[in-house]
Amino acid sequence: MNIQKLKKELEQARASLKSILNNASDAIFVGSPKTNKIVDCNLRGEELLERRRSEIIGQPLSILRSKQRANHYKKIFSEMKSISNADYDDQNLEVIITKKGKIKNVLISSFVAMSKEEPLVYGIFHDITQQKEQENKLIKAYHDLKVEKHKLLEERNKIEIILQNIGDGVVVLNPKLEIIVFNKKAEKISGFLAQEILGKKFHSIFKKNIIETENKHDSELIRKDGQPITISSITTSLAGEENSYIITFRDVTLEREVDQMKSEFVSIASHQLRTPLAGIKWNTEILMDGVLGKLTNEQLEFIEKIKTSNERLIKLVNELLDISHIETGRKFEIRRRKSSITKIVREILNEQVALITSRKIKVFNKINKNLKLSIDRAKIKQVFQNLIENALKYSQENNARVTIDSKIQKNEIIFSVADNGIGIPEHQQDKIFEKFFRADNAITVQAEGSGLGLYAARAITEAHQGKMWLESNKHGSVFYFSLPK
Ligand code: ADP
Repeated sequence: MNIQKLKKELEQARASLKSILNNASDAIFVGSPKTNKIVDCNLRGEELLERRRSEIIGQPLSILRSKQRANHYKKIFSEMKSISNADYDDQNLEVIITKKGKIKNVLISSFVAMSKEEPLVYGIFHDITQQKEQENKLIKAYHDLKVEKHKLLEERNKIEIILQNIGDGVVVLNPKLEIIVFNKKAEKISGFLAQEILGKKFHSIFKKNIIETENKHDSELIRKDGQPITISSITTSLAGEENSYIITFRDVTLEREVDQMKSEFVSIASHQLRTPLAGIKWNTEILMDGVLGKLTNEQLEFIEKIKTSNERLIKLVNELLDISHIETGRKFEIRRRKSSITKIVREILNEQVALITSRKIKVFNKINKNLKLSIDRAKIKQVFQNLIENALKYSQENNARVTIDSKIQKNEIIFSVADNGIGIPEHQQDKIFEKFFRADNAITVQAEGSGLGLYAARAITEAHQGKMWLESNKHGSVFYFSLPK
C-alpha cells in the first residue's frame, strides 16, 4: 500500500468522522488533554452552549464541567496520556451553563482516541434537560400526591374520631340498605356491636319505621337484650350518594316518660285550680254587682284588679290544660261543622273592641264573606284569637294596623294575620312555636304572656291537616295558616 493511498483513506476517514460529528443528535466536544483546551465541537455542541464554534474552540475544557468534576477529569486525562489509543468509557450526569445562563442537564460519555500524534478526548453530551424537567415534575406531582393523601387520611381520621365520639348514635346505610357505619353511641343505645352488625341489612335488625321519613320523629327500637326503648331519629340522604342514608338517633325514653309525667301533672294541677278560680270569679262578680251593699269607688277599683288578675289566671290555666290535652292526645278531638270564618273573626274583633279603640289600631277584616269551612269552630276560633290578640298586643304605638285576610288556593285556603308591630328577631323565629317561648323584644314591651298560644294554635291547625308559618322583620309580622278546602 503506498503512502498516497493511505493518506487518501485517512482523509476519507476524517471526512466521514466530521460528517458523523456534525450529524450526531448529541453534542460532541473534542478536547486535547495536552493543552486542556477544546479543539473541536459539532453543531449540537454550539446549540447546547448557545455559542458559536469559533467561540468554543480554544476555550479551556473547564467550561464543560462543573468545578467539582474538574479534578476528576484532570486525573483521568493524566491517566489517558499514558494509555495511548485506549478507549475510556465513563458516563456522568453534569450540569452546564449556557452563554445565556440557562442550566442544562447533560449525560456525558467520553472516550479517548489517537489522532495524529496526540490522544484526543471525545465527550458526547446527551442533553437530558427536558427529561430531567419531566422527572422533576413527576417527583413534585408524586410529592404533592403524598401530601394530599396524608391530608385526606388526617381528614378521615378526624371524621372517624368525631363520628365515634359524637353524642348521638350514627348509622350509615349503603344503597342496598346495608349498615356500613355504626358508631360507639349507636352500640351503646342498641346493645349491638358494630362488628356483629356491619354489612347486615338494616331491616333485618331494626324496625323499618325508623328510617321511613326524613323528619325528626320518635319510634321504638328493640335493643339486643329485647328491651324496647323510644328513640328520636332523623334520616338524611348522604350528600352526593343517591340512596345512601345517614341516620342519627338518641335514646329519649326517659325524656318522653318525664314529658308524659309533666303533662299529666299540669293537667291535674290545672283541673284542681279551675274550681277555686271559678269561685273567685263568681264571688268578685257578686261583690261588684253591689248585691251585698254598695261599694266605694276605691273598693270597686281593687275588686276590678282582683277580677282582671283572676281572668289572666283562668286564661293561663286553660292554656295549660290545652297543652296537656295536645300532648297526652286526650280530649283533643276535632268536631267539625260548617262555619263562617268571617263571623268568627268578627266575634273576636268585638271582644277586643276596648283594646282596639284605646290603642287606636286600624283593623281590616278582608276575609271572604261567603267562605264557609268544615272545621272545629271553637278550636279555629282559638287560633284566630291567638293570632289577632298577638297582632294587637305587639303593635307599635302609632299608626298600628292589623289586617286579616284569606287567599283561596287550589286545595287549601291560606289565612293571614298581618301587623306593622314590633316584629320577631330573625334568630328567634324558628323557636316561636315552641312551648313557653317568648322573644326578647316581646318580653320588654309586654311583660305578661305565657308563650303557649302559638304552640296550641299550630297544634290545632295541624290537627285540621293544615300548616302554620310566619314572615317577620322589624317592620312587622305576618302569621299564615292553611286549612284544606
Ligand atoms: P304570648 O303572646 O303569650 O307570649 P304566644 O305563644 O302567643 O305567647 O307567642 C309567643 C311569642 O311569639 C310571643 O311572646 C312573641 O315573642 C312572639 N309573637 C307572637 N305574635 C307576634 C306578633 N304579632 N308580633 C311580634 N311578636 C309576636
